[in-house]
Amino acid sequence: MKKLDPRSSLLIGGEWRPASNGARYDVVNPATEEIIGYAPQAGAADALDAVEAADRGLQKWRRTDPWTRSKVIRRISRLIDERRKEIARLITVEMGKPLDQAEGEVQATIDLYDWFADETRRVYGQVIEARKPANRQYVTFEPVGIVAAFTAWNFPVLLMSRKIAPALAAGCSIVCRPAEEAPGAVLAIAACCMDAGVPAGVVNVLTGVPGEITSTLMAAPSVRKVTFTGSILVGKMLMRQAADTVKRLTMELGGHAPVIVHSDVDVDRVAQMSAVSKYRNGGQVCAAPTRFYVHESKADDFARVFAERAGRLKVGDGLESSVEVGPMATRKRRDAVEGLVEDAMSKNAKLISGGRRPAHLNRGWFFEPTVLLDPADDSRMMTEEPFGPVATINRFSTMDEVIAKANGLEFGLAAYVFTNSLTKAHETADALEAGVVGVNTFVASLAETPFGGTKQSGFGREGGFLGIRDYLDAKFTNMEFLD
Ligand code: NAD
Repeated sequence: MKKLDPRSSLLIGGEWRPASNGARYDVVNPATEEIIGYAPQAGAADALDAVEAADRGLQKWRRTDPWTRSKVIRRISRLIDERRKEIARLITVEMGKPLDQAEGEVQATIDLYDWFADETRRVYGQVIEARKPANRQYVTFEPVGIVAAFTAWNFPVLLMSRKIAPALAAGCSIVCRPAEEAPGAVLAIAACCMDAGVPAGVVNVLTGVPGEITSTLMAAPSVRKVTFTGSILVGKMLMRQAADTVKRLTMELGGHAPVIVHSDVDVDRVAQMSAVSKYRNGGQVCAAPTRFYVHESKADDFARVFAERAGRLKVGDGLESSVEVGPMATRKRRDAVEGLVEDAMSKNAKLISGGRRPAHLNRGWFFEPTVLLDPADDSRMMTEEPFGPVATINRFSTMDEVIAKANGLEFGLAAYVFTNSLTKAHETADALEAGVVGVNTFVASLAETPFGGTKQSGFGREGGFLGIRDYLDAKFTNMEFLD
């Protein structure tokens, strides 16, 4: 059997090694259902070793000055750039997205390390005027300590780098548990960290299903922070576990983004843009536009153009050029999406595009780009995150009505609005309950901007000027001069 990467191993304390009990598991290409390699299945002993290694790494890294840290982080960015093709290919074969989109993910990852290479030198403290002349009062920021990071498979490299890069910038060490579906791509990033000169133990990677890995890391008192990207369900479980040792948390959880399309827009243009954005990464994007609410005067035109564009998207193996939509990453997700579509149709939603496994692909977990018109508000599709290639289109008549629907779920990650009216743009953007709002754009996340949710979509921000803050503790020092 082929390895995914020459170093398809755990990374603990700077050593690439198998799981201590020799366990490993198969990694499968979702486009072909073929086994493409294996990764070690780490257990409790490996997790404990990783925590000890991270403690040693922390002692060294937190004392490394920011200018040196900055140079190391910049070297990581350069190495990822040099290896961009091989990393993108790993992403595609492990989780299915088309190669050009995988390359886009790698570019966004390079940007992140570049951003945090600068941020590490910009952790500004504060001097606070004292009440007495004999005092000096100041605030400094210190690394929180060892970080445990758990991520989903949909942007394997970017999601983990949103945790590694700020941790390194803040002077923390980190134990990463990438999604079991896409371990090789994260190991390739860890290899860049090592080759860039990150000291042993500062970045550690444990691959495998969560079980013992997460329970061991969550119980370890020296793990001071947990950062998680994944579903609300698992996020809540980790929050409960974190309470026992009072760990700090960043929670990047699910979304079900509404898109409000006002009557004044060029419907043709917005519908075309929407259909392309919706199905990027097979719709497996936490910030994916999903619930389209279109003004009743334009809804049928919008639906017609959207469905036509969705129907023309080329579905297939992401390694083939010109493929626009790959497979879903797992059989389980494909089956879940099928269930949501069936439920919506049983409640009278009209299927205007897709809705099936593509007839020309008999292997792989594919599902056609699907559009449902007028689904009932109580269908599961309208209340549960679909995390797949399905869009819904509903019509609205008044602002109050559409805002109530858009904000009516417990999700609050991304939301979008399309209008040419400045007044409507402001009114709608202000009223939407979301951590990220796009006005006439679906770009929701950049290295230099803060990304994260409100309500049950989570808390904490990744990227931007806030990204490093979650990895730092504030220390107030009150110094009095005795005479
Ligand atoms: P998931 O919560 O099932 O899994 C996410 C990660 O957590 C995986 O690596 C998984 O192995 C791990 N995990 C699962 N059970 C666990 C447990 N009991 N203990 C510890 N770890 C466990 O989610 P998923 O279906 O893999 O990913 C999709 C979800 O991720 C969606 O809800 C999506 O919106 C969310 N997501 C959020 C963001 C964001 O930035 N807000 C980004 C991408 C994905």
